[in-house]
Amino acid sequence: MNDKRIVLKNGIIIDGSGKERYKADILIENEKMKKIGDIDAENKNDIIDINGLIIAPGFIDVHTHLDFIIASPRHSKLLESWVKQGVTTIIAGNCGFSPAPIRRKTIETLNTYWNSSLPKGGLEYSWNTMDEYFNHLEKIGQSLNAVILTGHNTLRLNAMGLEARFAEKAELEDMLKMLKESLDAGSFGLSLGLGYVPGLFSHTDELIELGSVLKKYNVPLVPHTRGLLSKNYDKAIMEVIEISEKNGISLQISHHAGGGIGRTRKKAIKAIEEAKERGVEIGHDNIAWPNTSTTVLSLFPPWAFDGGIKAFFERLRNEIILNQIKEEMRSFRPKWPNWENKWWVDRDYNENIILTGFKLQKYQRYNNMQLKEIAKDFKKESLDVLIKLVLDEEGKFFIITGQFDNPLAEDFIANLYRNPNCSVGTDIVGLDQKTPHPVAYGTFPKILGTIVREKKILSLEEAIRKMTSLPASQMRIEKRGSIKEGYFTDLTIFNPETIKCTSSFKNPFQEPIGVKYVFINGNMIFKNNQYDEKAFAGKVLRRTK
Ligand SMILES: [Zn+2]
Repeated sequence: MNDKRIVLKNGIIIDGSGKERYKADILIENEKMKKIGDIDAENKNDIIDINGLIIAPGFIDVHTHLDFIIASPRHSKLLESWVKQGVTTIIAGNCGFSPAPIRRKTIETLNTYWNSSLPKGGLEYSWNTMDEYFNHLEKIGQSLNAVILTGHNTLRLNAMGLEARFAEKAELEDMLKMLKESLDAGSFGLSLGLGYVPGLFSHTDELIELGSVLKKYNVPLVPHTRGLLSKNYDKAIMEVIEISEKNGISLQISHHAGGGIGRTRKKAIKAIEEAKERGVEIGHDNIAWPNTSTTVLSLFPPWAFDGGIKAFFERLRNEIILNQIKEEMRSFRPKWPNWENKWWVDRDYNENIILTGFKLQKYQRYNNMQLKEIAKDFKKESLDVLIKLVLDEEGKFFIITGQFDNPLAEDFIANLYRNPNCSVGTDIVGLDQKTPHPVAYGTFPKILGTIVREKKILSLEEAIRKMTSLPASQMRIEKRGSIKEGYFTDLTIFNPETIKCTSSFKNPFQEPIGVKYVFINGNMIFKNNQYDEKAFAGKVLRRTK
């Protein structure tokens, strides 16, 4: 086999550590960076003149729901907008849901409740264990490097179905066994989805037990906490700190924007700072917009799902129960602990939510519209319209909530990135159903363009650190996330003067500008605005001990 050599000349390196930029050449040999410094190429054909652009480590998208997408052979095309943002590695299996390990009876729930994360045509689930899932990903080839967390909700569905109760001993042991097997196969940690069923039905003790497995593997607990949108966010943060602290494991809090700007958030942040002083390792991530996207079914009372997805739809068809459901969606206040209070952790129903991802032809015109606008068309009350849509679409569409194109909310989000422990995630769902959320088209360029260059909230070096070496250390990814000799050649080369997100809610489907070259494992997969979607240069990263 001939060695593949490339020399990058005349670039300016920002190495991911946060240190100031410097000029140097990089010699790439096969998939690694062999030498950084003054390099004379033996063969002129090997040289790429970088011409004063910034060379950074490939960006790591630390919070995605792309695990179901990358199991589809079509993922390469779908991930084009990640490559154009400079992303080379994704972390998936977040918020408690992973596509593996999976038992047959779990598939129906995932296909419905988590439908918006799936490819349009669905998945065949030709695997059961995490190892088999990894083999499948490798067999079809991967465009980006993929790191997979094991989702607690998936484990719980496998072990005990969709039941509104605590786990029994045998069920917990079953979950522990599946978790160990998944970590042995190379999964990078355990994610919790405590804002969703069935994760929110678990007692803290169940989570402490599961967390105990992580210590030996030195991998993080990655929670979507309870009460993200409620006044209980501080208590929810204390709960996940307790799970970590009791087990001596690290904590990586997902989309840590909860509690808003009020007292609740201050208390949550204080709890984190105090825990860090006691020695608990805590990191977090945020998405770069004040909007979230998730399944429409997350708006419904958790108890309505007790017994499974079929039972849920039967309840919606029973007038007396439906009235109870509607009453709670309008007025219930989540309390702590949720299991003593009808299981609610968040209540986010409102008329301003955008609905999208409809499958039925007759509802296509409602994609990307606010519920209140759709309700006008039906000449009916908003909640009644929502329930009709859920029944007709079998619950398989999704919502986008939050503040749309609102400068004050944008500032709040931008300032979250000042925190030295905040890494960057896209957290998108509905990718193959044409999501109108700009996160899919410009997260990383938005931070480098708007938050760094225009608002001057971060230095470029610090922003790059938060996209590279920080998430690599939070997730224990080895030999990536930095520009160092001997590290894998995952590189993003961009123009710091022009990099920019051009997508907005008004005009979402716009590509970012400014990224010039992307290398994954030594392969140039993007140059001159051309993405080589047949390169499949990514790897399934399997954590080794
Ligand atoms: Zn989440």
